[in-house]
Amino acid sequence: MLRGLLATLKEMVVDPVTTVQYPEVKRPVSRRYKGRHTLKRYENGLEKCIGCSLCAAACPADAIFVEASINTDEERYSPGERYASTYEINFLRCIFCGFCEDACPTEAIVLGDQYEMSFTERSQSIYDKAMLLEPVPAGVQPTPQKTEPGKFTRSVPEMQDPTD
Ligand code: SF4
Ligand code: SF4
Repeated sequence: MLRGLLATLKEMVVDPVTTVQYPEVKRPVSRRYKGRHTLKRYENGLEKCIGCSLCAAACPADAIFVEASINTDEERYSPGERYASTYEINFLRCIFCGFCEDACPTEAIVLGDQYEMSFTERSQSIYDKAMLLEPVPAGVQPTPQKTEPGKFTRSVPEMQDPTD
């Protein structure tokens, strides 16, 4: 018993407890942490997602549901022909593996550093497009936008090879 108490005392001196006062204080997550997803936009406000469903095909947990619709220059959501009119992720299924992020040809779906997710009903675990899409940048039109005919014909932009 004395040995046990000495071990406790030693730990108190050698390795003092560092209690983090969560939720007021949050520990930074690692650079490659895979948290809740965000659907990204370009700087001009258009959505990066083109509704191709490659993320859904790559998902091992069948957690993603995508439905695509056609863009027009009068009502444009994303560059190219199609956009995701429905985009849902079921977070009761998701295992945060990041395969969807790797499969996306436009870097539209990104796993961020958000880990504060809780729900009390199954229906709340399904995040729809409005919940996943990042806000419109300041001073830019929200989607759908009226765009110049023939300007946004390319669905997948020219991109550099990833460095990370
Ligand atoms: S992180 Fe993995 S499990 Fe979750 S939606 Fe993406 S591919 Fe599916
Ligand atoms: S998030 Fe990426 S892979 Fe998934 S439908 Fe949109 S563009 Fe395609």
